[in-house]
Amino acid sequence: MNDVEALCERVAQACRIMGKLELAKAATGHASARLPGTDRIFIRARGPGELGVRFTTKDQIIEVDLDGKLAEGNANGLDVPKEVFIHTAVYRARADVFGVVHGHPLSTVLFTICNKPLQPLYGAYDPPSAKLAIEGVPLYPHSFLCDSPERGQDLAATLGQSSCCMMRGHGITTCGPNVEEATLTAIHLNDLADINYKAALLGGAQPIPEDERHWIAESKTFGPSVANGALPQGRAAVLWRYYCSLCKGME
Ligand SMILES: [Zn+2]
Repeated sequence: MNDVEALCERVAQACRIMGKLELAKAATGHASARLPGTDRIFIRARGPGELGVRFTTKDQIIEVDLDGKLAEGNANGLDVPKEVFIHTAVYRARADVFGVVHGHPLSTVLFTICNKPLQPLYGAYDPPSAKLAIEGVPLYPHSFLCDSPERGQDLAATLGQSSCCMMRGHGITTCGPNVEEATLTAIHLNDLADINYKAALLGGAQPIPEDERHWIAESKTFGPSVANGALPQGRAAVLWRYYCSLCKGME
């Protein structure tokens, strides 16, 4: 596999995991990656020839430029996703980002509908997801498709320097130094929402005390940090291998 094929396989794997974990339903949602040192973006395609998120293969990943235009040579019944501008706007705004994920995970969307905050309800149970609540997750206040460069820019402004944001009545966008960590952040965010949702049903949920939050805030989410689209290391690599194993045989 050359560099482009290897990157497409990484994006396809991210999509299969999103599908398996129901972070993206049926045919909706997409992951992308930027080829380091270039403005070339590789993203899950839509269109009549697509297989759906859970069954994404590397030949379902198409190349677009930073304007969201399909690169020459791509086709086969595959189209650019309408919301490609989520991805291109984040790559334009953030030189540190080499992977972007957009999905519609149910538990997280419930919190955008009910306008309830995600609270840090636990600590050692899962520090990386609790950390998202402590840091705060920005909310994009619109429910329409981000199907224009302007809407993409607006969303990227809401995201700011965060690793994730919620989108009202719609879904989430996450980003990272590679497509794997962007996907893991999507998983963490929805895990946080799952616990908040179930705790609210049970009743009596209390955030952990202020003086027990600092160790979570200071803890590393993924282990050694990586840059420029490099493969994840440390804890992120372990987590990624686990989630890949869940999708074995679907390549
Ligand atoms: Zn969407």
